[in-house]
Amino acid sequence: MSPVWSWLRRRGRAAFSIDPGLWKSATAPWLFMRGMQPVDTERLRELCGRFLAAKRFSGTHGLEVSDAMQVQIAAQACILVLELGIEWYDGWSEIIVYPSQFAPEREEVDEAGVVHFTRDAMAGEAWLGGPVILSYEDVALSGNARARVAGYNVVIHEFAHKLDMLNGDPNGCPPLHRGMDASAWKAAFHAAYRDFCGRVEAAERLRGRRAQDALDALPIDPYGAESASEFFAVVSEAFFETPELLAPAYPAIYGELRSFYRQDPAARLAMGGRRDSAST
Ligand SMILES: [Zn+2]
Repeated sequence: MSPVWSWLRRRGRAAFSIDPGLWKSATAPWLFMRGMQPVDTERLRELCGRFLAAKRFSGTHGLEVSDAMQVQIAAQACILVLELGIEWYDGWSEIIVYPSQFAPEREEVDEAGVVHFTRDAMAGEAWLGGPVILSYEDVALSGNARARVAGYNVVIHEFAHKLDMLNGDPNGCPPLHRGMDASAWKAAFHAAYRDFCGRVEAAERLRGRRAQDALDALPIDPYGAESASEFFAVVSEAFFETPELLAPAYPAIYGELRSFYRQDPAARLAMGGRRDSAST
Protein backbone atom coordinates (compact mmCIF):
# COMPACT_ATOMS: atom_id res chain seq x y z
CA MET A 1 0.00 0.00 0.00
CA SER A 2 1.35 3.41 -0.87
CA PRO A 3 1.95 5.84 2.03
CA VAL A 4 -0.72 8.17 0.69
CA TRP A 5 -3.29 5.59 1.66
CA SER A 6 -2.00 5.10 5.20
CA TRP A 7 -5.35 6.34 6.44
CA LEU A 8 -7.13 3.74 4.43
CA ARG A 9 -7.55 0.03 4.87
CA ARG A 10 -7.62 -2.23 1.86
CA ARG A 11 -10.65 -4.45 1.69
CA GLY A 12 -9.81 -7.46 -0.40
CA ARG A 13 -8.18 -6.33 -3.62
CA ALA A 14 -10.91 -4.13 -5.00
CA ALA A 15 -11.62 -1.30 -2.58
CA PHE A 16 -10.21 1.11 -0.06
CA SER A 17 -12.08 1.99 3.09
CA ILE A 18 -12.29 5.76 3.49
CA ASP A 19 -11.90 7.22 6.95
CA PRO A 20 -15.36 8.48 8.08
CA GLY A 21 -13.97 11.81 9.34
CA LEU A 22 -12.20 12.53 6.06
CA TRP A 23 -15.29 11.44 4.14
CA LYS A 24 -17.52 13.80 6.08
CA SER A 25 -15.25 16.82 5.72
CA ALA A 26 -14.56 16.12 2.02
CA THR A 27 -18.22 15.74 1.04
CA ALA A 28 -19.94 18.24 3.36
CA PRO A 29 -19.86 21.22 0.94
CA TRP A 30 -21.32 19.48 -2.11
CA LEU A 31 -24.86 20.41 -3.15
CA PHE A 32 -25.57 16.93 -4.49
CA MET A 33 -25.33 15.51 -0.96
CA ARG A 34 -28.41 17.50 0.08
CA GLY A 35 -31.23 15.29 1.32
CA MET A 36 -29.24 12.06 0.91
CA GLN A 37 -30.23 9.31 3.32
CA PRO A 38 -27.42 7.94 5.56
CA VAL A 39 -27.75 4.51 3.93
CA ASP A 40 -27.13 6.06 0.49
CA THR A 41 -24.26 8.19 1.78
CA GLU A 42 -22.66 5.00 3.06
CA ARG A 43 -23.16 3.25 -0.30
CA LEU A 44 -21.55 6.24 -2.01
CA ARG A 45 -18.58 6.03 0.37
CA GLU A 46 -18.12 2.34 -0.43
CA LEU A 47 -18.36 3.04 -4.15
CA CYS A 48 -15.71 5.76 -3.80
CA GLY A 49 -13.44 3.23 -2.09
CA ARG A 50 -13.70 1.00 -5.17
CA PHE A 51 -13.16 3.99 -7.46
CA LEU A 52 -10.01 5.06 -5.57
CA ALA A 53 -8.61 1.53 -5.74
CA ALA A 54 -9.19 1.39 -9.52
CA LYS A 55 -8.01 4.87 -10.58
CA ARG A 56 -4.61 6.59 -10.49
CA PHE A 57 -4.28 10.31 -9.74
CA SER A 58 -1.43 12.40 -11.21
CA GLY A 59 -0.79 16.02 -10.28
CA THR A 60 0.89 18.43 -12.70
CA HIS A 61 3.03 21.56 -12.18
CA GLY A 62 4.10 20.35 -8.75
CA LEU A 63 0.56 19.78 -7.48
CA GLU A 64 0.34 17.00 -4.93
CA VAL A 65 -3.14 15.49 -5.15
CA SER A 66 -3.85 15.03 -1.44
CA ASP A 67 -6.02 12.34 0.10
CA ALA A 68 -8.80 14.88 0.68
CA MET A 69 -8.64 16.08 -2.95
CA GLN A 70 -8.87 12.50 -4.20
CA VAL A 71 -11.91 11.82 -2.03
CA GLN A 72 -13.56 15.07 -3.18
CA ILE A 73 -13.10 14.11 -6.82
CA ALA A 74 -14.13 10.48 -6.23
CA ALA A 75 -17.36 11.48 -4.46
CA GLN A 76 -18.40 13.81 -7.26
CA ALA A 77 -17.52 11.22 -9.91
CA CYS A 78 -19.30 8.39 -8.14
CA ILE A 79 -22.61 10.18 -7.56
CA LEU A 80 -23.34 9.61 -11.27
CA VAL A 81 -22.95 5.84 -11.00
CA LEU A 82 -24.39 5.30 -7.51
CA GLU A 83 -27.24 3.25 -9.01
CA LEU A 84 -25.41 2.07 -12.13
CA GLY A 85 -22.21 0.53 -10.78
CA ILE A 86 -18.52 1.37 -10.85
CA GLU A 87 -18.16 -0.80 -14.01
CA TRP A 88 -19.51 2.15 -15.99
CA TYR A 89 -16.06 3.72 -15.46
CA ASP A 90 -14.11 0.66 -16.65
CA GLY A 91 -11.64 0.83 -19.53
CA TRP A 92 -9.43 3.71 -18.39
CA SER A 93 -7.55 4.53 -15.20
CA GLU A 94 -5.91 7.95 -15.00
CA ILE A 95 -7.15 11.23 -13.54
CA ILE A 96 -4.77 14.14 -14.21
CA VAL A 97 -5.16 17.17 -11.96
CA TYR A 98 -3.83 20.64 -12.85
CA PRO A 99 -3.61 23.30 -10.14
CA SER A 100 -5.78 25.64 -12.23
CA GLN A 101 -7.17 25.94 -15.76
CA PHE A 102 -4.94 24.63 -18.54
CA ALA A 103 -4.57 25.64 -22.17
CA PRO A 104 -3.28 22.86 -24.42
CA GLU A 105 -2.37 23.80 -27.98
CA ARG A 106 -4.92 22.34 -30.41
CA GLU A 107 -5.11 22.21 -34.18
CA GLU A 108 -8.45 23.13 -35.73
CA VAL A 109 -9.41 23.14 -39.39
CA ASP A 110 -12.05 25.69 -40.40
CA GLU A 111 -14.69 25.30 -43.13
CA ALA A 112 -12.26 26.69 -45.73
CA GLY A 113 -9.68 24.01 -44.79
CA VAL A 114 -7.38 26.49 -43.05
CA VAL A 115 -5.55 25.11 -40.02
CA HIS A 116 -5.65 27.23 -36.85
CA PHE A 117 -3.76 26.65 -33.62
CA THR A 118 -5.78 27.44 -30.50
CA ARG A 119 -4.97 27.68 -26.80
CA ASP A 120 -8.32 27.90 -25.03
CA ALA A 121 -8.31 27.75 -21.22
CA MET A 122 -10.07 24.61 -20.00
CA ALA A 123 -11.46 23.56 -16.62
CA GLY A 124 -11.62 19.89 -17.55
CA GLU A 125 -11.45 17.41 -20.35
CA ALA A 126 -12.41 13.75 -20.86
CA TRP A 127 -10.65 11.60 -23.46
CA LEU A 128 -12.30 8.72 -25.29
CA GLY A 129 -10.67 5.63 -23.73
CA GLY A 130 -8.17 7.87 -21.92
CA PRO A 131 -7.83 10.03 -18.85
CA VAL A 132 -10.07 12.59 -17.24
CA ILE A 133 -8.23 15.91 -16.79
CA LEU A 134 -9.36 18.44 -14.18
CA SER A 135 -8.39 21.89 -12.91
CA TYR A 136 -8.40 21.62 -9.13
CA GLU A 137 -9.24 25.30 -8.79
CA ASP A 138 -12.47 24.53 -10.65
CA VAL A 139 -13.07 21.34 -8.65
CA ALA A 140 -12.92 23.48 -5.50
CA LEU A 141 -15.32 26.02 -7.01
CA SER A 142 -17.78 23.37 -8.16
CA GLY A 143 -20.97 22.26 -6.56
CA ASN A 144 -21.21 24.60 -3.63
CA ALA A 145 -22.31 28.13 -2.84
CA ARG A 146 -19.13 29.57 -4.38
CA ALA A 147 -19.82 28.08 -7.79
CA ARG A 148 -19.47 30.57 -10.65
CA VAL A 149 -22.71 29.40 -12.25
CA ALA A 150 -25.67 27.69 -10.58
CA GLY A 151 -25.13 23.96 -10.82
CA TYR A 152 -21.55 24.26 -12.06
CA ASN A 153 -19.60 21.07 -11.36
CA VAL A 154 -16.62 20.24 -13.54
CA VAL A 155 -16.23 16.72 -12.14
CA ILE A 156 -19.84 15.70 -12.82
CA HIS A 157 -19.49 17.36 -16.24
CA GLU A 158 -16.41 15.40 -17.32
CA PHE A 159 -17.67 12.10 -15.93
CA ALA A 160 -20.98 12.58 -17.75
CA HIS A 161 -18.87 12.83 -20.93
CA LYS A 162 -17.23 9.55 -19.91
CA LEU A 163 -20.65 7.86 -19.73
CA ASP A 164 -21.62 9.43 -23.07
CA MET A 165 -18.39 7.99 -24.58
CA LEU A 166 -19.30 4.42 -23.65
CA ASN A 167 -20.91 4.03 -27.07
CA GLY A 168 -18.38 6.04 -29.09
CA ASP A 169 -17.73 9.72 -29.69
CA PRO A 170 -19.83 11.86 -27.35
CA ASN A 171 -23.16 12.86 -28.90
CA GLY A 172 -25.39 13.48 -25.89
CA CYS A 173 -26.81 9.95 -25.85
CA PRO A 174 -25.10 7.43 -23.55
CA PRO A 175 -26.03 3.75 -23.70
CA LEU A 176 -29.62 3.62 -22.44
CA HIS A 177 -31.03 0.91 -20.20
CA ARG A 178 -33.37 -1.79 -21.41
CA GLY A 179 -36.88 -0.38 -21.25
CA MET A 180 -35.78 3.16 -22.06
CA ASP A 181 -37.00 4.52 -25.39
CA ALA A 182 -34.11 5.95 -27.44
CA SER A 183 -36.48 7.90 -29.70
CA ALA A 184 -38.14 9.51 -26.64
CA TRP A 185 -34.69 10.44 -25.30
CA LYS A 186 -33.64 11.98 -28.60
CA ALA A 187 -36.93 13.87 -29.01
CA ALA A 188 -36.76 15.29 -25.48
CA PHE A 189 -33.11 16.31 -25.81
CA HIS A 190 -33.52 17.75 -29.29
CA ALA A 191 -36.48 19.93 -28.24
CA ALA A 192 -34.83 21.12 -25.02
CA TYR A 193 -31.49 21.80 -26.73
CA ARG A 194 -33.16 23.91 -29.43
CA ASP A 195 -35.14 25.82 -26.84
CA PHE A 196 -32.06 26.43 -24.69
CA CYS A 197 -29.92 27.58 -27.64
CA GLY A 198 -32.69 30.07 -28.49
CA ARG A 199 -32.70 31.39 -24.93
CA VAL A 200 -28.91 31.77 -24.90
CA GLU A 201 -28.94 33.55 -28.28
CA ALA A 202 -31.71 35.90 -27.08
CA ALA A 203 -29.70 36.72 -23.94
CA GLU A 204 -26.54 37.35 -25.95
CA ARG A 205 -28.39 39.78 -28.23
CA LEU A 206 -28.99 42.09 -25.25
CA ARG A 207 -26.48 44.81 -24.47
CA GLY A 208 -23.90 45.06 -21.71
CA ARG A 209 -24.98 44.19 -18.21
CA ARG A 210 -28.45 43.09 -19.33
CA ALA A 211 -26.90 40.32 -21.43
CA GLN A 212 -24.94 38.96 -18.47
CA ASP A 213 -27.99 39.24 -16.18
CA ALA A 214 -30.08 37.29 -18.72
CA LEU A 215 -27.40 34.59 -19.00
CA ASP A 216 -27.13 34.38 -15.20
CA ALA A 217 -30.92 33.92 -14.97
CA LEU A 218 -30.89 30.80 -17.17
CA PRO A 219 -31.71 27.56 -15.31
CA ILE A 220 -28.50 25.86 -16.49
CA ASP A 221 -24.99 26.90 -17.54
CA PRO A 222 -25.07 28.68 -20.96
CA TYR A 223 -22.12 26.49 -21.97
CA GLY A 224 -24.74 23.79 -22.61
CA ALA A 225 -25.57 25.56 -25.89
CA GLU A 226 -22.15 24.59 -27.34
CA SER A 227 -23.26 21.19 -28.68
CA ALA A 228 -25.56 18.24 -27.98
CA SER A 229 -22.81 16.47 -26.02
CA GLU A 230 -22.08 19.55 -23.91
CA PHE A 231 -25.81 19.94 -23.30
CA PHE A 232 -25.98 16.40 -21.89
CA ALA A 233 -22.96 17.09 -19.62
CA VAL A 234 -24.39 20.42 -18.42
CA VAL A 235 -27.88 19.07 -17.70
CA SER A 236 -26.23 16.19 -15.83
CA GLU A 237 -24.49 18.77 -13.61
CA ALA A 238 -27.83 20.48 -13.01
CA PHE A 239 -29.64 17.17 -12.42
CA PHE A 240 -27.46 16.43 -9.40
CA GLU A 241 -26.59 19.93 -8.23
CA THR A 242 -29.68 22.05 -8.85
CA PRO A 243 -32.58 19.68 -9.63
CA GLU A 244 -34.95 22.29 -8.20
CA LEU A 245 -34.05 24.49 -11.21
CA LEU A 246 -33.75 21.82 -13.92
CA ALA A 247 -36.94 19.85 -13.19
CA PRO A 248 -39.42 22.74 -13.64
CA ALA A 249 -37.46 24.26 -16.57
CA TYR A 250 -37.06 21.04 -18.59
CA PRO A 251 -39.31 18.34 -17.06
CA ALA A 252 -38.89 15.92 -20.00
CA ILE A 253 -35.10 16.08 -19.70
CA TYR A 254 -35.32 15.63 -15.96
CA GLY A 255 -37.49 12.54 -16.49
CA GLU A 256 -35.06 10.99 -19.00
CA LEU A 257 -32.08 11.64 -16.70
CA ARG A 258 -34.00 10.18 -13.75
CA SER A 259 -34.50 6.99 -15.77
CA PHE A 260 -30.89 6.92 -16.93
CA TYR A 261 -29.16 7.67 -13.61
CA ARG A 262 -31.86 5.77 -11.67
CA GLN A 263 -31.95 8.57 -9.10
CA ASP A 264 -34.42 11.33 -8.27
CA PRO A 265 -32.42 14.21 -6.74
CA ALA A 266 -35.44 16.58 -6.75
CA ALA A 267 -37.49 14.13 -4.67
CA ARG A 268 -34.44 13.51 -2.45
CA LEU A 269 -34.11 17.23 -1.90
CA ALA A 270 -37.83 17.66 -1.13
CA MET A 271 -37.76 14.73 1.31
CA GLY A 272 -34.57 16.02 2.93
CA GLY A 273 -36.10 19.47 3.31
CA ARG A 274 -39.15 17.98 5.01
CA ARG A 275 -36.92 15.95 7.34
CA ASP A 276 -34.84 19.05 8.16
CA SER A 277 -37.89 21.18 8.93
CA ALA A 278 -39.39 18.35 11.02
CA SER A 279 -36.21 18.07 13.08
CA THR A 280 -35.78 21.78 13.83
ZN1 LIG B 1 -17.71 19.34 -21.84
